[in-house]
Amino acid sequence: MSLPEIRCGHCGRKLAEGHVLVLSIKCPRCRVLNHYQATSHSPAHQGVPDRTPTDAQPTHHSLVGR
Ligand SMILES: [Zn+2]
Repeated sequence: MSLPEIRCGHCGRKLAEGHVLVLSIKCPRCRVLNHYQATSHSPAHQGVPDRTPTDAQPTHHSLVGR
């Protein structure tokens, strides 16, 4: 059983391992502050209506072929 590794996004140094919800950790090597936040499997969109507003529809216009 292995834990997911948390590595510095700048130099790749391994900072910790485990499951993270929210974490800020400064890399001791390059002193870059790495911020991690678990976004998957969290009901972060509660309270947001499922229906997309009509003026927020994604544009399907493509210049390919026409
Ligand atoms: Zn680093």
